[in-house]
Amino acid sequence: MREIIEYVCTQGRRSFHFLKNYASELRDITAVEPIKLKSYQKDALKNLLDYLYEKNSFYNGLLNQVGYNVEQEFTWDIFQRIPLFSKEMLRKKKDGLLCVPIEEILHVHTSTGTSGGESISIMYTINDLYGSDLYPQWGKLFYLNATDVVAVALPYEMSSAGQAFQRVAQIGYQAVVLPVGKGGAYSDPTKAIELMKEFKCTVLISSPSYVIELMKAAENCGFNMKEDILVEQIWLTGEGCSNKFRNRIESKWNADARFYYGSLECGALGIECGKKDGYHIPDSHVYLEIINPDTGETLEDGEIGEIVVTTLLKEGTPLVRYRTQDIGFIEHFRCECGIPLKKLYLRGRKIDQIIIDGKEYAPIYIEEMLMNIKEVGDNYFINVREDMAEVVIELASNCIYRDGLEEIISSQLEYRCGMPNQIKIVDKIPCDGKKVRRVNYINGKEESDDN
Ligand SMILES: [Zn+2]
Repeated sequence: MREIIEYVCTQGRRSFHFLKNYASELRDITAVEPIKLKSYQKDALKNLLDYLYEKNSFYNGLLNQVGYNVEQEFTWDIFQRIPLFSKEMLRKKKDGLLCVPIEEILHVHTSTGTSGGESISIMYTINDLYGSDLYPQWGKLFYLNATDVVAVALPYEMSSAGQAFQRVAQIGYQAVVLPVGKGGAYSDPTKAIELMKEFKCTVLISSPSYVIELMKAAENCGFNMKEDILVEQIWLTGEGCSNKFRNRIESKWNADARFYYGSLECGALGIECGKKDGYHIPDSHVYLEIINPDTGETLEDGEIGEIVVTTLLKEGTPLVRYRTQDIGFIEHFRCECGIPLKKLYLRGRKIDQIIIDGKEYAPIYIEEMLMNIKEVGDNYFINVREDMAEVVIELASNCIYRDGLEEIISSQLEYRCGMPNQIKIVDKIPCDGKKVRRVNYINGKEESDDN
């Protein structure tokens, strides 16, 4: 398999000659020491900028503006002068960012799009799909092996999520994949859980809300979550999720659940290790910076700001200094898990904050507080109004409704997080497999484009 991946890597438009110098290190990126990784990233960035300078007129203009010279050595100073690239620019540029002739594109994935906004499309060459993305091997970042049976319960259409995880599990780790999807034309939670039982699935990759739907389907089928379903690890992605929600999933599935942070535009950006405290950054595939969102200035490790990404190995539509709109900070210390890669801590998105009477409340924090209230079930959403939030919840399955319960939950929530709210209890919140919108801004605030 590795020979095939290496072969694909040498066939594209972009010459990855520098990878040869790191052949042994790239067999497991979780074993590479930081100093070697820094040198690798410098070489990868130089290789990328030379490629963009030659192949794309937009980037050529940008690089000329900052005085980039292909004959000269890479410097961080020149790199940090390259203007930041926004999501809005990506929507407008479309194929203006393409670096290969269109006939070499095999695949296009597109974002879910904002309400009324244009969607984002990313184009892939064969090398993007089966070469460089798998060449630096993910090592201990995913603890998968060839005996695992992996259910990928993510969208397989439009978005890159399902197919990207499938390639990593199948080609990267030679695991068996059950592409159960997420409520598409041929897929529903009952069929998915039946297949997972039949093939003794050990790993599940899905969004937090769909993991709950699968569990409900298992219960409806009369399956015992401990004896019939053998899932040991769950990867949660695609929606925000608080630690409390994770804890509920872990105890209900009797499995270890970890978060994965990535995006359509840039691929993997952070992968949780067993410590469940921050995400290890896959520095082999992306270069991350934290910037001051107001001034654009690059910040130091430990300082909170906007996460900016450069994709190191993409061939079709690479991105340089791309603003994710996500807020976080980077720490560089030796994690107790033994993986030397730097860690990223997320702090949500500025655009997603709930604002009531001028005060900000982080949705993840509200969820954490909700999940602490034992009467609150696993499904909820919030309608944000001018002066309060209407929180619509399902009752926890082991609770019986009683008069006045709404007021009790409401006062507990307000006491814990200060957010004025009104609780509405419903029998069931419908889930059709689509991405769950936990927060609806009734007061007219624009919603963000989720990854
Ligand atoms: Zn770790």
